[in-house]
Amino acid sequence: MAYSYEAPVSQTLFDRASLVTPGGVNSPVRAFRAVGGTPRFMVSGTGPYLTDADGREYVDLVCSWGPMILGHAHPEVVAAVREAVGRGTSFGTPGEGEVALAEEIVARVEPVEQVRLVSSGTEATMSAIRLARGFTGRAKVVKFAGCYHGHVDALLAAAGSGVATFGLPDTPGVTGAQAGDTIVLPYNDLDAVRAAFAAQPGEIACVITEASPGNMGVVPPGDGFNAGLKEICAADGALYISDEVMTGFRTSKAGWYGVDGVRPDLMTFGKVMGGGFPAAAFGGRADVMAHLAPAGPVYQAGTLSGNPVATAAGLAQLRLLDDAAYAKVDAVSAELRALVGEALTKEGVAHTVSAASNMFSVFFTDRPVRDYEDAKKQDAFRFTAFFHSMLEQGVYLPPSAFESWFVSTAHDARAMERVAAALPAAARAASEATA
Ligand code: PLP
Repeated sequence: MAYSYEAPVSQTLFDRASLVTPGGVNSPVRAFRAVGGTPRFMVSGTGPYLTDADGREYVDLVCSWGPMILGHAHPEVVAAVREAVGRGTSFGTPGEGEVALAEEIVARVEPVEQVRLVSSGTEATMSAIRLARGFTGRAKVVKFAGCYHGHVDALLAAAGSGVATFGLPDTPGVTGAQAGDTIVLPYNDLDAVRAAFAAQPGEIACVITEASPGNMGVVPPGDGFNAGLKEICAADGALYISDEVMTGFRTSKAGWYGVDGVRPDLMTFGKVMGGGFPAAAFGGRADVMAHLAPAGPVYQAGTLSGNPVATAAGLAQLRLLDDAAYAKVDAVSAELRALVGEALTKEGVAHTVSAASNMFSVFFTDRPVRDYEDAKKQDAFRFTAFFHSMLEQGVYLPPSAFESWFVSTAHDARAMERVAAALPAAARAASEATA
């Protein structure tokens, strides 16, 4: 596909990056491989906008893959960070900021009685699984195809996000031993879960699921699915782990738990709770968390865990996220979904706008999408044309048909008008695209 626009400074930076970094990026989906073209190197962000190295401004509908729920460079978050940085950037000791952030999480998410701070969502899920195995004394883990839980060895089997984007069946470097205790099941299929437990009673340590998946595109749990998981786990003595790295503090004040009320044994968080800094967490039942070192025998640690700058940013962001903020993000998302749907319908493009609270994605198919197999059947080539048309017109979408779009409280009328103005041409490009 030829692109009618150029990004010479980004291209030069990408050429430099490719010499010193594999694929030119530090996280695969940033590389635009699924859609082609030159990844944009961003130099600044303000509110709903990003500006790239060529000086072009975009309405940002990725929001750093979720964290920037207040938009970029929110003045109060920036002030909190400045204040924290001025006091020193890392002490390697306990500090009040991490206590305050843990208290905020515990206060918001009722099933979290105790929480441990880490630096990435990957660390959170990896540690939660180790804890579940240590607590239950069992080895096996159930995960669902299309769910992504970070690049944890045992969880990369049939993962979503970049693994879905690139169609990787499995990842070299993960040994049979590391993946051998992972049972991958189709999403939204409680019968498959029941069958797995029946086949190996007393052997499964935990079921880990995205609270509402966003890494195969947005595919919400069907009615009763999460409750069913919880019930099946409880009956067998396994733990139910809800991965809220993406949904946590985004889909409501208490994340997806605030939407469906199903009480997990353990939960994982990241993204929004770090305010754009590397901060993540796992937490849940106090009797389970008590098994974690130094209280208990399951080891887990981190030099930069609870970092004072990251916790200051996260705390400032969470404290700004009140009911009015969520109402605003929900309204922006609803408006955007309607605009996208109208534009695609007008051009006769088969599509499904799939939403879970304010997270949503567009599948280029009119068949229902309930699991990863359904998601893969969409006309992803239409997304490529749609993506590039939007990019050319100054709207930055996730560079993959298998990712959620994210909006923020900062997406105001002016930003939405720019998106609305770009949509008709993008919908036309999608309709004219060929495989
Ligand atoms: N879990 C979920 C649901 C995610 O969406 C992600 C990242 O996108 C992760 C875990 C991994 O988080 P991180 O990229 O911070 O390691």
